[in-house]
Amino acid sequence: MKRKETEAGKMKGKEEKIRKVRAEDVNIEKIKERNVKIKKLKAEIQCADAVLIGAGAGLSTSAGFTYDGSRFKCYFLDFIEKYGFQDMYTAGFYPYETPEEHWAYWSRYIFINRYQNAPKNVYDDLFRLVQDKDYFVLTTNVDHCFQKSGFDKSRLFYTQGDYGLFQCSKPCHQNTYDNEAIIREMIEAQGYVIGGGDAPSLPDGTPSLPKYGLSLPEGNPLKMTIPSGLVPRCPVCGAPMTMNLRADNAFVEDRGWHMAADRYQDFLRRQKRKKILYLELGVGGNTPGIIKYPFWQMTAGNPKAVYACINNGETACPREIRDRAICINGDIGEVLKN
Ligand SMILES: [Zn+2]
Repeated sequence: MKRKETEAGKMKGKEEKIRKVRAEDVNIEKIKERNVKIKKLKAEIQCADAVLIGAGAGLSTSAGFTYDGSRFKCYFLDFIEKYGFQDMYTAGFYPYETPEEHWAYWSRYIFINRYQNAPKNVYDDLFRLVQDKDYFVLTTNVDHCFQKSGFDKSRLFYTQGDYGLFQCSKPCHQNTYDNEAIIREMIEAQGYVIGGGDAPSLPDGTPSLPKYGLSLPEGNPLKMTIPSGLVPRCPVCGAPMTMNLRADNAFVEDRGWHMAADRYQDFLRRQKRKKILYLELGVGGNTPGIIKYPFWQMTAGNPKAVYACINNGETACPREIRDRAICINGDIGEVLKN
């Protein structure tokens, strides 16, 4: 009886070993296949007449702009303790009782997501790949990362707005206003010092993020409000100001937005029949009508065009363009580094 059991145990162990080896083989195959695709993409970038980049939230996530975890705790521990927030994004929708508290939250949010540099060099790596090409960027991201990494402003179209701009909340007129100076004032009024060294360490043991350019000097109590005099109001009608972000039909499309839209159309006209690479990066399923579907359609309409897509998880494309598509499943930063 005992012997039988050990025999069975041995068999089981063998089977497990075989399963493990097979799983490793599958993994190796996947890595090989991915490397072939990366090589192919590199060659396509080199020989394309032009590259149109379409970038979604996944690109900034890959660059380290995460909205939860230690990055969230670092700057919002007081808000988390008071309200039980889980992540930066949903906490932004909370109906704060006073505009002073609303802007304390939002000024930190805007400062770390718009004015600080991305933790990883993903945008810089991307820029190096296309800087000598005739390129254009269409993006739903509002965090200004392309410009911070050296992309030419006249080759960018931010369709959904910019955290760095305010607009009238009504809106009573179609202008936007640069908000860097006032956001800095709001941050400093809460006790932070801008340009300081490491971020404050956390009492719960979460490692603090290095060199974020914001520090809280010892003895400075962190305030969760800003002075009433800093609450931004429309210079024309006095209504509260808000971020220039497309959330509903109150979004202001200012002169800069229209000029970028025109330049994007010019680029498409110029490249219509040429060898163009449509490079889709980190575009999720939320707004496929802005980048993903047009990229598929334009690829289908131009036999010389190639469609490439890098995404963590979602990499599908229609059968009609599959023979001219390179779909790579993985972290964008890691793929670009190769
Ligand atoms: Zn107004």
